[in-house]
Amino acid sequence: MPIWNKEYERMGRPETQQLQLERLQMTVNRAYRNVPFYHRKFEQLNIVPEDVQSLEDVRKLPFTTKDDLRDGYPYEMFAVPMREVVRIHSSSGATSKPIVVGYTRNDLEHWAELVARVMSAAGVTRDDVVQIAFDYGLFTGGFGMHYGAEKLGASVIPVSSGNTERQIQIMQDFRSTALVGTPSYAIYMISLMDKLGIPPAALCLRVGLFGGEPMSEKTRAEIESRLGIIATDNYGISALMWPGIAGECELKEGLHINEDHFLVEVIDPDTLEVLPEGSEGELVITTLTKEGLPMLRYRTHDVSRITTEPCKCGRTTARMSPVRKRTDDMVIVRGVNVYPAEIKALLYDIEHVEPQYQIVVVRENGLDNLTLLVELSAEMISDQMQRLVELEETIKQRVHAVVGLTPRVRLVEPKTLEHVGPGNRILDKRVE
Ligand SMILES: [Zn+2]
Repeated sequence: MPIWNKEYERMGRPETQQLQLERLQMTVNRAYRNVPFYHRKFEQLNIVPEDVQSLEDVRKLPFTTKDDLRDGYPYEMFAVPMREVVRIHSSSGATSKPIVVGYTRNDLEHWAELVARVMSAAGVTRDDVVQIAFDYGLFTGGFGMHYGAEKLGASVIPVSSGNTERQIQIMQDFRSTALVGTPSYAIYMISLMDKLGIPPAALCLRVGLFGGEPMSEKTRAEIESRLGIIATDNYGISALMWPGIAGECELKEGLHINEDHFLVEVIDPDTLEVLPEGSEGELVITTLTKEGLPMLRYRTHDVSRITTEPCKCGRTTARMSPVRKRTDDMVIVRGVNVYPAEIKALLYDIEHVEPQYQIVVVRENGLDNLTLLVELSAEMISDQMQRLVELEETIKQRVHAVVGLTPRVRLVEPKTLEHVGPGNRILDKRVE
């Protein structure tokens, strides 16, 4: 199995840590001197960059949150003047301010290099024809994968997302061997192929790189058996780098982290203490080489665990388990962030229902659907069918107006949802 960058992907632990420390000190300096937000934070904590003398000293540094980035909209968090920025990407931010990320030329080169590593780990080589079914635009999926695949020397088809029939046609005619996209899109593609009567044998596909949303083992197994490919998971955060932070090798025993560019900690989301290796907790990531938007201890809210045991593939980089849940109370459905707090608030304003609810997310034929279970108030239960239908409609409309997504609504009898506590308001059946 080829390794794209043996020098860094097979580096010994002491050498890796030494390199990480040097780069951390550089990043801390850059952030402190060029980003007023970090300068203020350092003053509040009464620290200076020189306080970072070991890797453990990262714990002295302030956390960065998504809200910090939103407050800095659009360019406040950049550490370089705009003339150094050669690319700008942004999150969607339908209901809140988006996060804007600026990349310098070096940032883009690193990005391509790290995605090339992720692709190579999944088994992609220059002999592959890579079909990229991510959006090309402000969203980083398409461009991120594109330049990595080109760097690797593969033949890249920037087909982008949508028009699935054409996508399948291209996959057949252009003899694509690698597919890049979200797992749910792959499932959708499979169901359409069924409908069109195209057998997987009509394709040349042999490997898939899936990201952008959690992929359960069940979904992975389905994609692998139906398409006859190896399906790998990869990880990133668009505010830092996505894709490119980590990716699975063909052994699929954890995602190899590009540790020479990212320092990853696992913390207890309640106490904020760093947890020992192997513990499950929230990933906190510090960038080590980013110039445009350096980030100290970014709280991802993604839950994972990390091991530094070398992998049988020969890479010595630490590995993280696939991310399948988040610490904050939020679920992403069809790219829309759904917060239980918002649902609760809108139910308070609707007559005849209690603010008792549960959010159930399922994936059917590759599409995510959200069902909202809502408790009726006691006086409503024996009422007419017509009024219940109207009530369901009202809830649907309110949720659509606030969240931007139309749920299915199921009204349930009073007191049925009493047992549903804050920890299980969301039942995500996509991840099993
Ligand atoms: Zn490996």
